[in-house]
Amino acid sequence: MSDFDLIVIGGGSGGVACARRAASHGAKVLLIEAHRLGGTCVNKGCVPKKLFVYGAHFKDEFEDARGFGWTIGDARFDWATLKANTHEEVARLNGIYAKLLSNSGVTTIKGWARLVDGQRVEVNRDMHKAKTIVIATGGQPVRPNIPGAELGVISDHMFELAGLPERAVVVGGGYIACEFAGILQTLGVQTTQLYRGEALLRGFDQELREVIGDEMQKRGIALRLRTDLIRIEQGQRGLKIETTHGDALNADLVLFATGREPNTKGFGLEEAGVALGERGAVAVDEWSRSSVPSIHAIGDCTDRINLTPVAIHEGRCLAETLYNNNPMKPDHRDVPTAVFSQPEVGTVGLGEEDARRTFGQIKIFKTRFRPMKHTLSGRNETVFMKLVVDQASDKVVGCHMVGAGAGELIQILGVAVKCGATKAQFDATMAVHPTAAEEFVTLYQPVPEPKSKAAE
Ligand code: FAD
Ligand code: NDP
Repeated sequence: MSDFDLIVIGGGSGGVACARRAASHGAKVLLIEAHRLGGTCVNKGCVPKKLFVYGAHFKDEFEDARGFGWTIGDARFDWATLKANTHEEVARLNGIYAKLLSNSGVTTIKGWARLVDGQRVEVNRDMHKAKTIVIATGGQPVRPNIPGAELGVISDHMFELAGLPERAVVVGGGYIACEFAGILQTLGVQTTQLYRGEALLRGFDQELREVIGDEMQKRGIALRLRTDLIRIEQGQRGLKIETTHGDALNADLVLFATGREPNTKGFGLEEAGVALGERGAVAVDEWSRSSVPSIHAIGDCTDRINLTPVAIHEGRCLAETLYNNNPMKPDHRDVPTAVFSQPEVGTVGLGEEDARRTFGQIKIFKTRFRPMKHTLSGRNETVFMKLVVDQASDKVVGCHMVGAGAGELIQILGVAVKCGATKAQFDATMAVHPTAAEEFVTLYQPVPEPKSKAAE
């Protein structure tokens, strides 16, 4: 049996960050990863997905170029090339992760870890012991419990498709559904998106939700709200999908983007006394401590905010706390986020509805306009921007955008919100002209309060 200060189970975003930071403070660290280093983000998430988004975008660029005088020849897309090049990049990143870990002095073992108790882990029939164990096992996609669900695919499979389908049905209204609906439709797949709710992206600002639905439909995605599927059957003309409205759709591919569940079953967690909370997530306190004192958990397996930078932050906070005498609780407030749909969504802070509930009196500044580029490209796409301001403090408590570059922009607006910038400071910031972003510092007139709210 080998002895370590720390054993990390899971070599994804959170686990790798925690292991490296702990080792940098002198801890003897073992990291165990069952599959490929980098976890979901590198292998089946952020990275290959974003490369696909870039791949799809060229279609828009070729189309938009015409209005600027370009004649584009016979532009053709080859799925096999995008897939192969993406796989190659992912493999390169796997290698970089391995090097980063070994350069940091972390011992890495490939294998399926099983927790034996609060201080022992078995992998490949060897036993390892540590004072502290960190669970960083991520999550996995779930399919709805309907007849024929096995005929559909999940996001993991989207990176392995032998070819693009002619017709696809994407189920869900969250991040993954919106992103893949955009990729598929832009790459020429006739795409229908079914979502059971009233508007896409539950939890986001209500108006933003409506705008992104509108923009996605304008691009040609057949968006069907308040619609779910009941069953899938293998028909003569591909898959037959029965909806809650009693009609049937035909498709060659059904993608279930119906959420993810924490990866917490089958490796001894509960047997070791680790309490699981809602949806099977490891129950942790604000220091990422589980119910067993020597076991901590970070990232998607705790189902707090399931984003890569958050998992990394949680991992580093924990390593700082445990090995650098620098207690750090992860900060989950005002996390900027982007949905790489087409067009993109960026958001930080509170939506209008949440801000109204939190602060009572708020001011809303917003605009929706055709960006300069599309005056010549002719593309029927608008940009939406919205600022939510707490009336009492004048602080900007929410920034929301739908439009090209929203992900890049919201990163920087996140700094302003995190610093507690006021609307007056936004106004005092000189515009960069001509950009779309300048609208965020030139929104002078608040929209009139809705009558019922103003009267309160
Ligand atoms: P993971 O990265 O999932 O890593 C967990 C690791 O643990 C896995 O490698 C797994 O093999 C390993 N493991 C599990 N059990 C065991 C065991 N018993 N023994 C050994 N190893 C084990 N986030 C963003 O911020 N931006 C994005 O653009 C984005 N896009 C996404 C796109 C998709 C399609 C998906 C699915 C997710 C996306 N995410 C994105 C979310 C992001 O990928 C996750 O939040 C992040 O990867 C979570 O990191 P983690 O360390 O908690 O878990
Ligand atoms: P989400 O939780 O974002 O969305 C799941 C969607 O599926 C929701 O619209 C939900 O509807 C719907 N749904 C759930 N169950 C069913 C069901 N039984 N039948 C029909 N519809 C159902 O999950 P995703 O899988 O899209 O992504 C998981 C997480 O990964 C995200 O929340 C995000 O944290 C992260 N991620 C981040 C990305 C980024 O940063 N760009 C990209 C991709 C993922 P309802 O709203 O009604 O519950």
